[in-house]
Amino acid sequence: MLTPHLHRSTATSELVYENVPLSDIARQFGTPTYVYSRAAIVANFRAYKSAFAASKPLLCYAVKANSTLSVLALLASEGAGFDIVSGGELQRVIAAGGDASKVIFSGVGKRTDEIALALAHHIHCFNVESEAELYRVNDVAIAQGKRARITFRINPDVDAKTHPYISTGLKSNKFGIAHLDAVRLYTLAASMTGIEVHGIECHIGSQITELSPYIDALKRLLSLVDDLSARGIQLHHLDIGGGRAIVYEGETLVPMADFAQAVEREIAGRNLDLFIEPGRSIVGDAGLLLTRVEYLKPGETKNFALVDAAMNDLIRPTLYDAYHPVAAVLQREGEATLYDIVGPVCESGDWLAKERALVLQQDDLLAVLCAGAYGMTMASNYNTRTRPCEVMVDGDEAHLIRERERFEDLIAHERIIV
Ligand SMILES: *Cc1c(COP(=O)(O)O)cnc(C)c1O
Repeated sequence: MLTPHLHRSTATSELVYENVPLSDIARQFGTPTYVYSRAAIVANFRAYKSAFAASKPLLCYAVKANSTLSVLALLASEGAGFDIVSGGELQRVIAAGGDASKVIFSGVGKRTDEIALALAHHIHCFNVESEAELYRVNDVAIAQGKRARITFRINPDVDAKTHPYISTGLKSNKFGIAHLDAVRLYTLAASMTGIEVHGIECHIGSQITELSPYIDALKRLLSLVDDLSARGIQLHHLDIGGGRAIVYEGETLVPMADFAQAVEREIAGRNLDLFIEPGRSIVGDAGLLLTRVEYLKPGETKNFALVDAAMNDLIRPTLYDAYHPVAAVLQREGEATLYDIVGPVCESGDWLAKERALVLQQDDLLAVLCAGAYGMTMASNYNTRTRPCEVMVDGDEAHLIRERERFEDLIAHERIIV
């Protein structure tokens, strides 16, 4: 087993996702294609539910990890709430049949129209990230004759020990309000007619493998909860953010049960509803990018496998120097060669993987694994490339959940003036 629900058939030496051979998917839908396993997504979501059975948190899936409607609809059917960072993501949640009353709105730069849209849909709460935003949320709520429930996102200044681009809980990051400012801002918020102070939140980063950053941040949040309580401000909910890692390259993770127990131990005996905002850990290892080798290009110092997927389809390798496992769909006999897996985009940064030992021939299929999170949502049309289609595997069946983009889609909103 390479990722959950992906197996190599002993009969054919081919990769099979749930019960569907990946070569069938390539034949039916072409490449490059994002393929997700329904069972893997459900299993990841239920793993949180069962580990946190004692505290029964509202699991607000972070939409930005993978916002495809079928993924959102599947998670909504499992009872998920949603963590959004834009009005567009709220519209996606609603279009997918998600429950707006289980939506929390994060993000440092919420526009007035986005706040108004969220209030009109009665979302659960806004995670406010600055004083200026607090004033804006208050104004919009008053204009609608409502009170907006808020939490403050606290920047606890803890090192999540992850890649600097995906670390968000340090003083030097743009996220959240400073721990030192919190009491003043909560007091201000409590005095505002358009605001109902509800909770406290932090989100310290992504791909976090260790327990200690979470617990350090949680302790800081709880000391604030006590401080505020002593000043007459009672909070009702505590949100520990997302960030749990997945295994890309042999990382050792804190077991989910230990994570849950440690969090539950900290909040035991307190009257606080728990919220969690997992993204990557729900969808990351539940998806792969299926691509075909166009050419093999031996070089003096390196051998390249040129594939039909590129940095515009999956930007994580070049953006974060991220590692994704790559597996040949058909395992061939023979001596392996070290290949850099690169795309056709005109950038030296257009690579998906480096120095992978593979036995390949032209036209072979490759599966870039653990590509379910921050894959399709970060895809672009650079080099006028249409974005991949997406397929959801469910047992014996493979369903097209998003058509491959067409050239016509790319130019649909352009106007020629000369
Ligand atoms: C991105 C994000 C998440 C999800 O992070 P993962 O690492 O994908 O779990 C949760 N909360 C907030 C505020 C985010 O910005």
